[in-house]
Amino acid sequence: MFSMVSAEFYRGLGGLAALGFAASYIYGSRSPGSQIFGPTLIAPPRPNELALTFDDGPNPAWTPYVLDILARRGVLATFFLVGKYAENERALVRRIVESGHLIGNHSWSHPDLSLASGDRVRNELRQTSDTLEQISGQPVRYFRPPFGARRPVVLRVARRLGMTAVLWNAMTNDWKEPSGEQISQRLIDKIDGINACGTAANIVLHDGSHARQLANRGPSTAAAGQIIENYKSTHRFVTLEAWA
Ligand SMILES: [Zn+2]
Repeated sequence: MFSMVSAEFYRGLGGLAALGFAASYIYGSRSPGSQIFGPTLIAPPRPNELALTFDDGPNPAWTPYVLDILARRGVLATFFLVGKYAENERALVRRIVESGHLIGNHSWSHPDLSLASGDRVRNELRQTSDTLEQISGQPVRYFRPPFGARRPVVLRVARRLGMTAVLWNAMTNDWKEPSGEQISQRLIDKIDGINACGTAANIVLHDGSHARQLANRGPSTAAAGQIIENYKSTHRFVTLEAWA
């Protein structure tokens, strides 16, 4: 009887260990704050700094409006571009760079790189950096993994290509929200909380969509303007280069 109980007990323990491993693997590959699979840049202890970052563009329907808003307020931002979209929108990529903003690599086709083969990871990142460098004439130094999904090979390949992997600490489901106010209010709550803990905010908004290049990003674009209005007199807006 005792040995049966203990066999059950140890089987249970094994199951728990496997569950624990699975849970920490998922945490390591998905959680923006996890450093389990290698160091990533999030934000430094400078609570008066904000980095606005825009993912999944360039989107010819909305990125120009985002650029207008930033220019009007004299704010610089970081754009993580999808390689295959950038190739279609070379003039828009050049406009982003010539406006003084930083561009980063967001992979060629936005797959979940935590599930992709090593070869696929290399091709996705290299092709994107090559294309962005060819368009902009500048080296690409920052990479944001699609969906924040990663595993050791993803971070290793990014490093070998000379890029710092970047996650975030302030994001909402802006791509699903119908109103800019809702997005900006949720973000402001998050940013205030992060700043209260003594940390800068690394904010994600989407000027594009991985599903299609011409997605409607009106609410996200409006939210960007509202975030800038809310913080322009108290905070410094920086690109990720300020945190390198
Ligand atoms: Zn993305």
